[in-house]
Amino acid sequence: MFFLGIDIGSTASKCVVVNSEGEIVGKGLYGSGAGTNGPKTAIGAALAEAGILIEDIAYSCATGYGRNLLDWADMTLSELSCHAKGAGMLFPTAKTVIDIGGQDAKVLRIGEGGRLENFAMNDKCAAGTGRFLDVMASVFQCKVSDLQDYDAQSTKVASISSTCTVFAESEVISKLAGGEKIADIVAGIHESVAERTAGLAKRVGIGPEVAMTGGVALNEGLRDRLARKIGHPILVSRLAQFNGALGAALTARETYMKKAPALDVDEPRREGPVCCEGCAGDAR
Ligand code: ADP
Repeated sequence: MFFLGIDIGSTASKCVVVNSEGEIVGKGLYGSGAGTNGPKTAIGAALAEAGILIEDIAYSCATGYGRNLLDWADMTLSELSCHAKGAGMLFPTAKTVIDIGGQDAKVLRIGEGGRLENFAMNDKCAAGTGRFLDVMASVFQCKVSDLQDYDAQSTKVASISSTCTVFAESEVISKLAGGEKIADIVAGIHESVAERTAGLAKRVGIGPEVAMTGGVALNEGLRDRLARKIGHPILVSRLAQFNGALGAALTARETYMKKAPALDVDEPRREGPVCCEGCAGDAR
């Protein structure tokens, strides 16, 4: 028997298939999210890796920004609960989980078995999220995955004072024009994201064990700077970006096993005030 979890994010679609023991048997990732063919492609890849067909799925759970777009899923659940659940399996000793995705940054306190106890979230503004890093990478005309290599080559930190993505982008462009090295500017960008994330983490309590998930967890340079700021080493997994989808798959399995009714725990969506006058919401 197989269970499917799909995380339809703002920038990427991630899918995980687990078996009746809760072991991962397939996963798929596609670099586009809600409103695209990304979810279908990620699901196809996960099923192919598991060597099964969609008919073999006993129960499914959708999470993420675009979870309500998948009308055939048996249930939906908030990203927060799914990330907590996934982290409970990937990092059984972690009490604090820092998740930075394409559109938001969140810090979770988790209890036994990946139960969500508390959280703090930045979802009003692109600052401190993957989107901020994507915009900066486009200024340097490199891939976001190259930023860590630049950081490794830095010899000093060229500080970025603006947190707003639009203002920070202008600041980066003028630093480049002023002859600063890309590597040092990237170090400054990572410092700025790390500072903001550490502030979020302090609101919910840090440690004793800390893990990082979401696509931005793959950025070693940023992770190291964040670890220094919070004073704790950060656990990471090669499955970091799949954490929400894993939590969804485990939830689908548990729900099916308990034969509980499907539920949707909704969290506040990204409506309402914009972050500041600088971006007027466009950077989100
Ligand atoms: P979402 O669920 O909102 O789509 P993800 O958790 O999938 O977000 O993370 C997407 C973000 O992760 C991207 O915006 C990008 O900044 C970052 N990212 C993705 N892949 C990498 C990588 N290989 N190295 C560094 N950062 C990455």
